[in-house]
Amino acid sequence: MQNFTLHTHNNELHFDGRYSAQEMITTAQQKGFTTIGVSNHMIMHPNLTPYLSREPMFFDNFEKAEAAYQRHIEILQNLKTKFKIDIKVGFEVDFFQDPRWRNYFEKMLTRLPVDYLISGSHFLKNKDESFICNIFHLKYLNPQPDSQTIHELTINHYENIIAAIESGYFSFIAHLDYCTIFGLGEDKRYDEYKYRILESLKKHNHPFEINTGGYDRIGRPHPAEWMIKEMANNGGKVPVLISDDAHYTEKIGRYFPEVEKMLADMGYTNRFTLEMLRKPL
Ligand SMILES: [Zn+2]
Ligand SMILES: [Zn+2]
Repeated sequence: MQNFTLHTHNNELHFDGRYSAQEMITTAQQKGFTTIGVSNHMIMHPNLTPYLSREPMFFDNFEKAEAAYQRHIEILQNLKTKFKIDIKVGFEVDFFQDPRWRNYFEKMLTRLPVDYLISGSHFLKNKDESFICNIFHLKYLNPQPDSQTIHELTINHYENIIAAIESGYFSFIAHLDYCTIFGLGEDKRYDEYKYRILESLKKHNHPFEINTGGYDRIGRPHPAEWMIKEMANNGGKVPVLISDDAHYTEKIGRYFPEVEKMLADMGYTNRFTLEMLRKPL
């Protein structure tokens, strides 16, 4: 079974995990993992709407964001000396296309000693990113966007995942159809965008995760089984890994055996290895 977990969250510095980095790392070690990657959220954009900016882990100021990320890395580097388990420093990054974001992000990467980055897309946004809303917060918008607007935003969401793949910044792509947790993008008319994501993964031989967090929320992992099957042909040309996306100690490694069995049944043998982790840029 996969003996590492690379997509985990904790509650240092107002990040959205429920346990400290120390508690998460201790649990991963106790469960027999050889490596834990810590991947708190990197969410920064000048156009985050005001109510989002009040959430401490969402930054509308790049410099403030960077200071928090540096501090986060210091906390982890300090813990590295105290544990036998190997600790990798990562972030789960919401990829944006606004030139201001890409410009600052690339400069910041030269100053942040990270081991790897994951792409995790959690936002709906319009083309020029003047409107950005975390899918989780969509229900709080007043007035609510009409169905045509939601449709267009959902297409942008899927296209943003393709742009993230093509950016080359990431070691792997997280939860390809995250929006379906919230009942978005499930309709057949979005299949063409999901196929385009899969084609892009294949074209760039870009690793992706199967996220077990969906089991508790919608009874299945992400992405949907048909998408994993589509990638599994010929043993799976594109490396795949299992992620727990743990925000709680008890979720570390949860449902890994179920996904191992699913992959074995599909004959998906091409697995992501720790050697495939890479620094961005
Ligand atoms: Zn995520
Ligand atoms: Zn996550």
